[in-house]
Amino acid sequence: MSAPAPVDEPVSREGLTLAKVLRFLSLPFRPHLLETYMAVNRFIEVPVDQLKTDGVQGVLIDADGTLGSHHVREFPPEVVAHVDKLVDSGLKVAIYTNACEDRFHQFKNISIVKNVPPKPDRRGFEMAMKNFLRLDDPNRVCMIGDNFLTDGGARLAGMRFIHIRPVKGNESFIHALTRELAFRCARFYFPQSFH
Ligand SMILES: [Mg+2]
Repeated sequence: MSAPAPVDEPVSREGLTLAKVLRFLSLPFRPHLLETYMAVNRFIEVPVDQLKTDGVQGVLIDADGTLGSHHVREFPPEVVAHVDKLVDSGLKVAIYTNACEDRFHQFKNISIVKNVPPKPDRRGFEMAMKNFLRLDDPNRVCMIGDNFLTDGGARLAGMRFIHIRPVKGNESFIHALTRELAFRCARFYFPQSFH
């Protein structure tokens, strides 16, 4: 019998894992997990002032499909500026990706979540909140991402979720399809969150 793969093995984190398949199949029956705090077309449209008004203290940000296209290593200046704006407003900010973690040099002084279980595992979000944002209350933490199957796992931890329309890239067909189906499911249950 072979030993189980470590949690930070790249393929197991990013591929269509059993956790993602089970989450996909269960989503239509657990609509509270699709509840969406807000939905915007692009990351730079996330309204910093409203997060502050609503009592948010920290944000976790997905990378691929959210800050840029799939596996990009160079991020647009306006995206970097908007992350800075979040930080300057007093929010705690960290980037949480299941993919490669060594390509965020443009984001100065931003924590990159490492050595935690991959999304959508609830424990990964809890460790990201405690160890990288240094916060304790998930109600005051917001995950920003493009995928309900992975980023939406934040709901399991009691966090708010902001959905970004995915930045198109070279992700696999099955990745794009499951992401789209989960999005449509969320929009069906919570049409008021989507414009
Ligand atoms: Mg993504």
